[in-house]
Amino acid sequence: MTKAYDPNNIFARILRGEIPNKTVLETAHSLAFHDISPQAPVHVLVIPKGAYVDFAEFAARAPAEELVDFHRACAQVCDMLGLTGPEGYRAITNAGSHGMQEVPHYHLHILGGRVLGRLVSPD
Ligand code: 5GP
Repeated sequence: MTKAYDPNNIFARILRGEIPNKTVLETAHSLAFHDISPQAPVHVLVIPKGAYVDFAEFAARAPAEELVDFHRACAQVCDMLGLTGPEGYRAITNAGSHGMQEVPHYHLHILGGRVLGRLVSPD
């Protein structure tokens, strides 16, 4: 079961304008901004404006309008940042303690601009 949403998590504060961000794209239901600690030449986070802890909660609870807006925003970010060529990119999301999710507001990491290595380290 997904844990309760914490309205004081850092992305909720970004959405309220309490913390600055480097915005890439804002839509009716989504915000995309550069990660503060980039792990690749391109590292953007896309978040829904609604209060969802993780992917499973967003997928299960969000209205269709928000789901469509979010995924179209992700695609637009890939296009805007030149990631749609043959080199591609990686889109990943973390959840819970095994996924090592740090910020408990659903977000998709979009990474690109270099070879990213294997998805999961062997250890
Ligand atoms: P998670 O581990 O939850 O999947 O990823 C959280 C991401 O949020 C990390 O990549 C981290 O660098 C990023 N992050 C944490 N705090 C901030 C912040 O205040 N601003 C921005 N732009 N990114 C942040």
